[in-house]
Amino acid sequence: MAKLYFRYAAMNAGKSTVLLQAAYNYEERGMAVLLFTAALDDRSGQGVISSRLGLTRQARTFGPDTRFDRELIDPGVACLLIDEAQFLTSEQVRQLHRLAHVGGVPVLCWGLRSDFRGEAFPGSAALLTLADELEEMKSICACGRKASINMRIDAGGRRVTEGEQVLIGGNDRYRAVCPSCFYSDDDADHRRAPGLFG
Ligand SMILES: [Zn+2]
Repeated sequence: MAKLYFRYAAMNAGKSTVLLQAAYNYEERGMAVLLFTAALDDRSGQGVISSRLGLTRQARTFGPDTRFDRELIDPGVACLLIDEAQFLTSEQVRQLHRLAHVGGVPVLCWGLRSDFRGEAFPGSAALLTLADELEEMKSICACGRKASINMRIDAGGRRVTEGEQVLIGGNDRYRAVCPSCFYSDDDADHRRAPGLFG
């Protein structure tokens, strides 16, 4: 029976590497796969999935208006692999769930669980609700604990706590950290706050 899978992680856990390996494994057995990644804007078209190890591969892109139904899937496709799945809408996740269970096409999604504020991405919230199989991909914080959350840092290395969920361009960067490190800047702010601790 086909299922909807969600493999989630913080940033830099190797999601795209594992996706490309999964595609290779299917194709090695003579099975066709269809790869998707998020469009950087609202238009769908051609995109690239690239892993930090240097592998890259063309993929179709999805935008908010992409409909994941049977017509989208070329005949003979054995499996759908979706990168940046946090950017799916909850309606698209529902379509993918139907596609797996009614259309019989397994759907494997990789994505970030939460954003830099520690809040859900719409696609991830829906996938955590509907996916038949969940798997957390582990990565390590600089302090050695498990990284489970993404910190946005500005050009000066300071944590950014407010702003758009997704920035295209700009100088901000991200670091996957453990919750303890994520909140450590809060404590620093409190210590700096005049009068708070006398
Ligand atoms: Zn840490």
